[in-house]
Amino acid sequence: MAERFETESRKLLGRLRDAMAGDDPGQARLDKITHLIANSIGCEVCSIYLFRDEETLELCATEGLNPDSVHQTRMRLGEGLVGRVARSRQVVNTADAPSARGFRYMPETGEEVFSSFLGVPVQRLGESMGVLVVQSKQAREFSADEVYALEVVAMVLAEMAELGAFVGEGAAMGARHSQPVMLRGTVAQEGVAEGHIWLHEPRVVVTNPIADDPHRELERLTEAVEELRVGVDKMLTLAADKEQAQVLEAYRMFANSKGWMRRMQEDISNGLSAEAAVEKEQSLARARMGQATDSYLRERLSDLDDLSNRLLRILTGQGADTGAEMPADPILVARNIGPAELLDYGRNLRGIILEAGSVGSHAAIVARALAIPLIVHAERATLEALNGDHVMVDGEQGIVHLRPDDTVVTAFRDKMAMQAAAVERYASIRDKAAETLCGSVISLHMNAGLMADLPSLEGSGAEGVGLFRTELQFLVRNQMPKRSELSALYARVLDAAGGKPVIFRTLDIGSDKVLPYMKPNDEPNPALGWRAIRVGLDKPGVMRMQLQALIRAANGRPLTVMFPFVAQYEEYTLARAEVDKAMEREARLGHVLPETLKVGAMLETPSLAFSPQKFFEEVGFLSIGGNDLKQFFFAADRENERVRRRYDTLNVSFLSFIERIVERCNQTDTPLSFCGEDAGRPVEALCFAAIGLRSLSMRPASIGPVKSLLRRSNLDEVRKVIADARHRGDMSVRPAIMDYLRDQG
Ligand code: PEP
Ligand code: MG
Repeated sequence: MAERFETESRKLLGRLRDAMAGDDPGQARLDKITHLIANSIGCEVCSIYLFRDEETLELCATEGLNPDSVHQTRMRLGEGLVGRVARSRQVVNTADAPSARGFRYMPETGEEVFSSFLGVPVQRLGESMGVLVVQSKQAREFSADEVYALEVVAMVLAEMAELGAFVGEGAAMGARHSQPVMLRGTVAQEGVAEGHIWLHEPRVVVTNPIADDPHRELERLTEAVEELRVGVDKMLTLAADKEQAQVLEAYRMFANSKGWMRRMQEDISNGLSAEAAVEKEQSLARARMGQATDSYLRERLSDLDDLSNRLLRILTGQGADTGAEMPADPILVARNIGPAELLDYGRNLRGIILEAGSVGSHAAIVARALAIPLIVHAERATLEALNGDHVMVDGEQGIVHLRPDDTVVTAFRDKMAMQAAAVERYASIRDKAAETLCGSVISLHMNAGLMADLPSLEGSGAEGVGLFRTELQFLVRNQMPKRSELSALYARVLDAAGGKPVIFRTLDIGSDKVLPYMKPNDEPNPALGWRAIRVGLDKPGVMRMQLQALIRAANGRPLTVMFPFVAQYEEYTLARAEVDKAMEREARLGHVLPETLKVGAMLETPSLAFSPQKFFEEVGFLSIGGNDLKQFFFAADRENERVRRRYDTLNVSFLSFIERIVERCNQTDTPLSFCGEDAGRPVEALCFAAIGLRSLSMRPASIGPVKSLLRRSNLDEVRKVIADARHRGDMSVRPAIMDYLRDQG
């Protein structure tokens, strides 16, 4: 039987290919296909349902149902048996369809006379495209071989649909990748950008889903798998450590998996090409991955997915180098990307769209440093986008307009022009002080983390670098940077700053920032775990090396250093003692010491705000790390999309807390600044200034807007608005401030 079916399925695929070979319009092709399948399987009905939009399936061709219902009958995802197949991406096979769970009677199709129903998902690489159905009057369950044959055909249909085979007169389906698509995501770096798509990992296109010669296809598969195995073995010999080797071992196990190989060989015997066989198994694995709740299983399925991709690249010869040329205005699309890869692209990119990623990821830090608009969590981006597609990224709203139509293009360009005008307006106040109408002067600094940030010092009008995040140099490498490298880099930063002050923050790792070459620590709560200064003090080697590098970089110039995440007085004194020791050591070694040395701490945990007076007297300066401080104040994870924005920075309790810190610093004359992201939001910055902060550090692009608002504001009035809101018992002062600003025009 299996043998008979193998040849049947192969014959069917052969006929399908012939049907596709002509230059019939898309609808005619679909009609022919349903006719062929119904005949081959010996059923009265064969129908193809394709997605009209993400939620709606449409009957696009049928043999056996009422022809008038084609393009008329529609169902929502999950509705009826067809909708159930599409939603679950699993086969439904029943001898008694009317009694099956989810059956819905569609009078226009006349289908009530058909008892048996077999529906298989049409999917490509886990992406659902529609449903292929056969039905018959005779009540019978379809055999495993029949189900298999239909799955193979569905796979080929998906490939053909991907290649645009069903597009054209009669509009069987819209041309994929030609319609405008709007994707929603989360903003990780603001800004607007227009450009053309550059796929980090181009889609593999399979142009030959049906095998001409199964023997040849089997050979091709064997050769490709062999090449894959050799590649994995080679990676194993290069593995940096035991852990990496363990991961690769699991990988190798898959590459040698007999089951995987056997299934692909069967697919080929049934008429698929080697590529299509790999894709078929990959699709099944992806569908399972979507349903797996066990994280171990999900990871293994993801290994398999990765291996399948490699295998497809070997088979199609479509590697990273596809010969495509990067557009002049590239907007990068990827599932996810590491910081080092992103730095390789550098400032060439106009924008970045990621399917995964997170606001606090390393990639986001790099994107921010390079001031490239970044949208994360943009689902389906890699499925919808093709190299070279026109795209507009709205990094204010978190929207991606792919292949936008003219009205969107016009509206978007207006928006960009307005922003450009604003930038020009800000340029005109670049060299002016951020002096408010009531005569207070706020000093505005910029945050940085890369050499590439430094040119902004000039352009933004920042008075200096209020936060230089040194961890990026550690994060983007495969091994610990050398002291000489760091020292050279810090020296270049100081050179580029040209005498403007730079506050170097010592290594802030742990939590979300994990060094690739450090043994990861499995901590139940990394944000509350072994991070930042805690690592620095427990393993002082790296901290000492970094302090030495900083002193040498200063080479007689002023040096300012601050320690991240200080939670109690003692941590500061211990860290400060390390600085003193480093100075003594450097002096002994004959190095020139900095002209002046300031050592400060970041206030990122509420505890530090309540430390003894002596701490405030002793510390050189304090900088509020609002991103962390806010997450600990509200106990709301800054990385968790569900709760990240739940509490307003202008919440009266939080503002009162910051005001308390300002008062304590005023009592001891301790210089204080604020360097979290909120400092760069004009309304927040205005409130901070009103409650007494006189120094703010932010993204360079925020300096213009913040300065512009400060220069037009009277802090006495703002203070009164805040006091009134507090008096009324408002939860947040934002509504009152916004009303006030509106009244001010
Ligand atoms: C902060 O926590 O506010 C801060 C500036 O540091 P980071 O965002 O690097 O943790
Ligand atoms: Mg922090």
